[in-house]
Amino acid sequence: MLKGKVAVVTGGTRGIGFATVKKFLENGATVVLAGSRQETVDKALAKLTEYEGRVMGIHPNLSSAEEVGKAFQKVKDTFGRLDILVNNAGISARESLYEYNPEDFSKILDLNLNSVFICSQAAARLMREQGGGSILNTSSMVSIYGQPSGCGYPATKFAVNGLTKSLARELAQDQIRVNAVAPGVTRTDMVAALPEDMVKKISSTIPLGRVGEAEEVANAFLFLASDLASYITGTILSVDGAAMT
Ligand code: NAD
Repeated sequence: MLKGKVAVVTGGTRGIGFATVKKFLENGATVVLAGSRQETVDKALAKLTEYEGRVMGIHPNLSSAEEVGKAFQKVKDTFGRLDILVNNAGISARESLYEYNPEDFSKILDLNLNSVFICSQAAARLMREQGGGSILNTSSMVSIYGQPSGCGYPATKFAVNGLTKSLARELAQDQIRVNAVAPGVTRTDMVAALPEDMVKKISSTIPLGRVGEAEEVANAFLFLASDLASYITGTILSVDGAAMT
């Protein structure tokens, strides 16, 4: 489904990002995974040796326009183009408003929101030159409902939806599609870090009766990145087992 395409996936070293990297590789794409550190990038690449020559790792500071610009240019210099960007790197938050440290609030804005703007800008510049592309964002079901603590997290995901819808309108003239996937509770390290009773409580509210798998989110990214979604832009696709609906 992605033969000949070149993709960058941020937060591609584990969880939803790594599942997406694998899914894209299985479907013929060349994939650049972006992680936060050389060690985690190397660890992820070690699991993908069968795709050697079609996979590369980078670790720019995603909040630095300069570093991201250079890293994406390197992708273009190495593989000739950039067709797909998945803005997936993210951190969560659980603090109550009363205990929320303003520095932590800024930190979550920096990764979950500012990096989406910075990476989208750098990618769109390259995509426009080559006649189009696809930008995908990892939102969350909390971008619809909010959550009862850690308000910084849903605040960033509401904003990611805003960027998705606005950039879809702005970049359509350059044949760049912009969509988001809004996962529900998905089995990754982020969920493993939550107390078990919280996960159980959340699962019991999900009509499909279970948490989602990272691969199920990756399948949605595959569809939206592919030519099957050629007339879809500005969509926030929920992959959440109808959680809380
Ligand atoms: P994860 O913790 O397993 O992976 C997070 C990824 O982000 C890792 O690859 C990590 O290297 C990267 N990352 C973290 N800090 C970074 C930094 N400072 N710079 C660069 N990269 C950094 O989490 P996940 O569950 O796979 O989450 C991926 C995305 O999915 C996030 O945007 C998250 O908000 C979203 N999401 C997750 C769930 C869930 O239930 N797991 C639900 C909805 C949305």
